Amino acid sequence: RARKRFGQNFLHDPQVIGRIVKAIAPKPNDLLVEIGPGLGALTEPVAEAAGHLTVIELDRDLAERLVQHPTLADKLTVHQADAMKFDFTALVQEGKKLKIFGNLPYNISTPLLFHLFQYADFIENMHFMLQKEVVQRMTAIHGSKAFGRLSVMTQYYCEAMPVVEVGPGAFKPAPKVDSAVVRLLPRAVAERAAVPADVLNRVCLEAFNQRRKTIRNCFSNFASAEQLEQLGLNPGLRPEQLAVADFVRVAQWLQQQESAV
Ligand code: SAM
Repeated sequence: RARKRFGQNFLHDPQVIGRIVKAIAPKPNDLLVEIGPGLGALTEPVAEAAGHLTVIELDRDLAERLVQHPTLADKLTVHQADAMKFDFTALVQEGKKLKIFGNLPYNISTPLLFHLFQYADFIENMHFMLQKEVVQRMTAIHGSKAFGRLSVMTQYYCEAMPVVEVGPGAFKPAPKVDSAVVRLLPRAVAERAAVPADVLNRVCLEAFNQRRKTIRNCFSNFASAEQLEQLGLNPGLRPEQLAVADFVRVAQWLQQQESAV
């Protein structure tokens, strides 16, 4: 029986499973990591193609079931653990990067993504099934309605694109919402202007708390209109009109101000 508090909706549609596995494209020698394998809907075909993978499952009964699994067990390294607290650097081998995937528990998707972004430098790619609306926010372009904190944080760390759309009928029990698989390709460190995640996150929180405000008002706690202009930003803009690079510039500026005190 599915446990609601663990966000359990199990995939059962073979066609949908096939499309997701094709998007993940598992190969032997890949360092594959699945978050929330559940009953193994994705685990089995991925193990079949790759020969081995590591899984992180919070539910003791499900983790135990995989350890005992007659055909899968010898292809798996099972961690019964909370993926939100997991140290992913522990899985890196011989300088090889991780390929992480999963049909995530929707109730914890944002904090889990933020946790994973910390490990961007150790990750080759990620494929996650999420609520479709969350994927739309992650991949939204500035100027569009869905653009917000999740768009800025996601796109600062990764290139993000939707790859598979999935209706509620593919799961048991069926969720109330549409789902989609997002592909995340972490950007190289050199491509990212360095800014601490917590500072960027704070700037986003200030920006998107009250959407109808202009950035002159949103950022009034830490930057004057003149200072925004010096950063090349028109103070009369609304936060959703700023590009990701603009948020990064504001965060870098804030970081400099704070470290100067
Ligand atoms: N992958 C399976 C499938 O597609 O049928 C199960 C997907 S289900 C939506 C989410 C899975 O994540 C469940 O097996 C659940 O027990 C597990 N889970 C929930 N919270 C977790 C956490 N914090 N860390 C690791 N796994 C978690």
